[in-house]
Amino acid sequence: MASFPVDKIRDDFPILHQTVYGRPLIYFDNAASTQKPVQVIRAISGYYETDNCNIHRGVHFLSQRATETYEETRKMVQRFIHAASSNEIIFTKGTTESINLVASSFGKQYISPGDEVLISIMEHHANIVPWQQMCLERGARLQFIPIHDNGELNMEAYRSMVKEKTKLVAITHVSNVLGTINPVKEIIAYAHSFGIPVLVDGAQSVSHLGADMQDLDCDFFCFSGHKMYAPMGIGVLYGKEKFLEAIPPYQTGGEMIKEVHTDGTTFNELPFKFEAGTPNVEGVYGLNAAIRYVENLGLENIRKYENEILEYATAKLSEFDDIRIIGTAKEKTSVISFLIGTIHPYDAGVIIDKMGIAVRTGHHCAMPLLERYRIPATVRASFAFYNTAEEVDSLMEAIRKVKKIFG
Ligand code: PMP
Repeated sequence: MASFPVDKIRDDFPILHQTVYGRPLIYFDNAASTQKPVQVIRAISGYYETDNCNIHRGVHFLSQRATETYEETRKMVQRFIHAASSNEIIFTKGTTESINLVASSFGKQYISPGDEVLISIMEHHANIVPWQQMCLERGARLQFIPIHDNGELNMEAYRSMVKEKTKLVAITHVSNVLGTINPVKEIIAYAHSFGIPVLVDGAQSVSHLGADMQDLDCDFFCFSGHKMYAPMGIGVLYGKEKFLEAIPPYQTGGEMIKEVHTDGTTFNELPFKFEAGTPNVEGVYGLNAAIRYVENLGLENIRKYENEILEYATAKLSEFDDIRIIGTAKEKTSVISFLIGTIHPYDAGVIIDKMGIAVRTGHHCAMPLLERYRIPATVRASFAFYNTAEEVDSLMEAIRKVKKIFG
């Protein structure tokens, strides 16, 4: 871990330099949301200090400058995820809104009674409920691909579930509970061999693995800024142009309109067709700075360092004979869900919190997955590139304390 400049990196994150309950804050809740470097914070305040203005329609200087940064950022996202065109990049509130958009618009265009949508049992609620609702509305059926006990997707079952009636596959790239990296490339290629489009939920993958639309060849890809060092309330929907052209608008009003007459409305072209109302311009400024930050560190370096932290933490947790790790797939990102004996995760979480360590306890918005394991909750520690092995040691000390109190 010596070559990764973690101390220098930590200097960029002001929030990490505080104490809670008299102890240095240790932030292990990165799967829920990452912290923001000063570069992102400055980009947002800089926007309000010098550029604040509504975009696109103004001819004046500020409006033009803000529009330029907004559209430059769209091109930056295009490059970052290797999309073929910036028309394929839609700014949304985040992954949830991106998936809702596709469920609603794709559903209206392509889903009929008796059709099937295929997702997996490890999905976040954001990649379950929009499909569930759409299937209810359109008389379609939602099917769940099962997983193996170690948290890997059952690929054999997946292959057997793809049928003539299957109209879409929607799958998470990385599970927010198990950390499993799904073989999305293989999943996509198989669905495509039957002409079925695939949506990939990249909320948990993009900050660890990056994303390459040319390599994956998925039809839709969704991610949230706040899970990759950018602000909340900004995210991206990538969609292949042919699908974005074919599906109807999601919301109406504002820049998505070309002309309105009393007898009807024509819609703007891509990507504006899907960006109704005043967009989150400050969020786009922040996303711009976050992408630059991540690219500066280098995704390869990030992945290598985070893997080392994951391996270290997994080894340390395995030293306890009564800790059960939920999710032991071969390919994982830096997320560990676990149970400490029979101690309820909420009880454990309260003690760990008092030691200044932020972990998440609960169902992590993946209730069907926890039902699959017949457990109500887990403790989840999720690591980012600013976390250290010493912080992992502190978590182990906190676990020993939990065991002493409740064990
Ligand atoms: N999918 C996954 C895998 C997630 O982890 C999350 C956030 N926990 C979401 C979707 C939803 O993301 P957001 O709340 O940013 O829309």
